[in-house]
Amino acid sequence: MICPRCESEKVELLVKSPVGNVWEMYICGTCTYSWRSTETPDKTDPKHYNAKFKINPAHIDKMLMIPPIPPLKG
Ligand SMILES: [Zn+2]
Repeated sequence: MICPRCESEKVELLVKSPVGNVWEMYICGTCTYSWRSTETPDKTDPKHYNAKFKINPAHIDKMLMIPPIPPLKG
């Protein structure tokens, strides 16, 4: 399985539906995007995920933290 947002192959099963085994939830180990198997292809399929919201894994380390975390007090 490939992450719809960053196209990493580091996807894990997060949880299955507690009743009826009707859906699974997956999480990406690279960008932490998570999705349920029953969501629409624009949220589950890398080919249909909105290109404006895609993430390049190489850029993750350089992203800003919002709000910024202040330095620890001495
Ligand atoms: Zn991802």
